[in-house]
Amino acid sequence: MGSDEATPAPTVGTLLRRGATKRCPNCGAGHLYRGWFQMAERCPRCGLRFEREPGFFTGAYLINFAITEGFLFVLLMAFMVWKVQRPDAGIAAPLGIGLVLAVVLPVLFYPFARTIWSALDIAMHPIEPDEAADAAAASAERPSPG
Ligand SMILES: [Zn+2]
Repeated sequence: MGSDEATPAPTVGTLLRRGATKRCPNCGAGHLYRGWFQMAERCPRCGLRFEREPGFFTGAYLINFAITEGFLFVLLMAFMVWKVQRPDAGIAAPLGIGLVLAVVLPVLFYPFARTIWSALDIAMHPIEPDEAADAAAASAERPSPG
């Protein structure tokens, strides 16, 4: 299984590093997005179809939620430390900052969450031979840029 692949499968660390930098987890190619939200259906280099099954990117929402909640938790802990030192300070400004971040962070992390999820999924469920063949066929179809 997989012994006929031209290149060895990337390690979990490589997959995650590529995912965290908005790159194709499989080959490391960038430029997967048109704008901030529109992800290419396939990798422009290796042809991998990112949506591996219907509803695939539901996992990306979980990643995005976890990242946002993690940041808000750290912010809340920092606020509690700050509030202990200033018991008379109001909570309007910290509350406003928290509310703004709760909206802005998921938007900022959205493309990263998708590629991180894609990397995690490939780490847990390596690319099947039929997916690799489909990717190779799609990659061969399109003219190489430049
Ligand atoms: Zn790729």
